[in-house]
Amino acid sequence: MRLAFPHMGNIYIPIKAIFNGSSIDVVFPPLTSQHTLSLGVKYSPEMACLPFKLTLGNLIEALELGADTVVMPGGAAPCRFGYYHKVQEAILRKLGYNFYMITQDRGIMNMVKHLSNGASLWKVITALRFGLAKLKALDELEQLVHKIRAIERDKGEASRIYREWTRAIDNAADYQALNQAKREHLQKLMNLPTVSSPAPLKIGVTGEFFVVLDPFANMDLEIKLGVEVRRSIFARDLVSFNPFIYAFGLREKDRSHKAATPYLSRHVGGDGRQSVGEKVLHARDWDGLIHLEPFGCLPEITARNIMPSTKEWLPVLNLIYDEHTGKVGIINRLEAFLDMIQRKKRGRVAVCA
Ligand code: SF4
Repeated sequence: MRLAFPHMGNIYIPIKAIFNGSSIDVVFPPLTSQHTLSLGVKYSPEMACLPFKLTLGNLIEALELGADTVVMPGGAAPCRFGYYHKVQEAILRKLGYNFYMITQDRGIMNMVKHLSNGASLWKVITALRFGLAKLKALDELEQLVHKIRAIERDKGEASRIYREWTRAIDNAADYQALNQAKREHLQKLMNLPTVSSPAPLKIGVTGEFFVVLDPFANMDLEIKLGVEVRRSIFARDLVSFNPFIYAFGLREKDRSHKAATPYLSRHVGGDGRQSVGEKVLHARDWDGLIHLEPFGCLPEITARNIMPSTKEWLPVLNLIYDEHTGKVGIINRLEAFLDMIQRKKRGRVAVCA
């Protein structure tokens, strides 16, 4: 078996650790690029959402590299995600690829049986634990960098250390190497010269899971922002549903859902309810909120239309992504939004929520 899976931000790092630890031959498609997007756009239905197109592009690149088995999440999501894998499988077969697709649709036991590749349970559990340790390290690193980027004196240094640290996490072969990477890079990050005034803006980032987590999809939004990013969506949310696998206590998602209830009391698919809840929940402690939405994503369209009617006030910038979205347009809108919030903080302008 030569296994492949699509990218979503840094999630390939813990997945690689899990499969390598289980002695599974994994084919890594190249990191998502403009070429990946072109492939996805070429073979996807025009109105498919951006994550569909990017992950299809990843799978084509992986199959071209010799993968014979692909993993594609899916299942009972009440949005297009529920049938991603079926449509992608049909497209890939029509393109002439011969492969086996693993999805949870075919049953969890079937999935586990295939993914364990005959390895002993102990080996699988050991690999899983190490992969989750890497996942946790990556999330902690991101949270830290979100704060440092806003106050670093020499712009770009925190991002440079972030990339170094990410590579070190990826290369770590055991817990000792993982801890050493943390010690070394944490020190470098904490020793960066910083500026103490003016106090940085605290800007929340929320929206559709994939676009929030994938820097290619959101065009490196967090790096461009240059403010303190507050984000509740992390890759660990993929596994935090299971308290035996990853104990994180009450998830931010649960708190957001509760906060959204007066305005949106039911699940609308994807992360729509969470997006509304984040605005309500953080109206007092954030200066603004950036809401990311793939073009045509119904859960986030629903959230976008509800957000202006909450009584909790917080300026929201909605950014819609598809293959036609341009970086310059995104930067212009970000600059205007941040400038407006800064001016409002200094008491010079009124901002509409
Ligand atoms: S949440 Fe939106 S972008 Fe994500 S799969 Fe569902 S419809 Fe597509």
